[in-house]
Amino acid sequence: MSLNQIIFLSVSIFIAAYLINVFYITVLYHRGLTHNALTLSRSLKKWTAATGIWVTGIDPKAWSCMHRMHHMYSDTENDPHSPMQLGVLGVAHGQLKSYEKVLVRLIKKDPEVCRLVGDIDFEVNILNRKKLWALPYLLHILIAVVLSMSFGHVMVGAAYYFGIMSHPVQGWMVNSLAHKFGYRNFEISDHSRNNALVALLVFGEGYQNNHHAYPQRARFSHRPFEFDLGYVLCVIGSWMGLLKIKKQKNLPGGAPEALTPFAY
Ligand SMILES: [Zn+2]
Ligand SMILES: [Zn+2]
Repeated sequence: MSLNQIIFLSVSIFIAAYLINVFYITVLYHRGLTHNALTLSRSLKKWTAATGIWVTGIDPKAWSCMHRMHHMYSDTENDPHSPMQLGVLGVAHGQLKSYEKVLVRLIKKDPEVCRLVGDIDFEVNILNRKKLWALPYLLHILIAVVLSMSFGHVMVGAAYYFGIMSHPVQGWMVNSLAHKFGYRNFEISDHSRNNALVALLVFGEGYQNNHHAYPQRARFSHRPFEFDLGYVLCVIGSWMGLLKIKKQKNLPGGAPEALTPFAY
């Protein structure tokens, strides 16, 4: 293959792998499991519980738990990943440490965190319970090596690996940039912002101010010029019968029911 063909193939593979990752996180983990803005079909929920960690490297239950903490304590000292507390760059490391802490507390059945995800009716994935969390990362390295050898260029495998394992970068952009830089449609108590660039790159997730104002809405865009590609994926999923989009509620983020829809 020529270098141009290799570059085209690498870009295509990166986009496809990135799409798969962002679909899992924004549609299945975030809007589905965490906020219940979508009702996932029984089979899709089982699929998410079984494959989520293998595809993204991130445990769906632990991610949901940490994210619910983020909404409860947004931009305060108890927020797991606020740029107001950790600094813009500090969020990259802080979100990883917070995720690990939440995961360990869930595995040890700490009642305080278990209560936050009492409605998610599956366990922390067995890979995490058995300390085998590295296996998905090794699997993706193996796939990347096979791709590189098959096409004779390391760029192809690297594109796959960085696309499918892109969540830390996506998470940093959303958690840090979209809580620091951008405009606000709603004057709420935290520092969430609507960041159009992050929204474009992370499929609507950059509209953090809209999302924190109305956390139970599946659609994160609010004004006519805002575009939420993640919501488009939700609509396609609903056409395919994989999920149902719940009727959008108008509970503002500050309303007790919207802040603690999951405190069972
Ligand atoms: Zn946020
Ligand atoms: Zn959220």
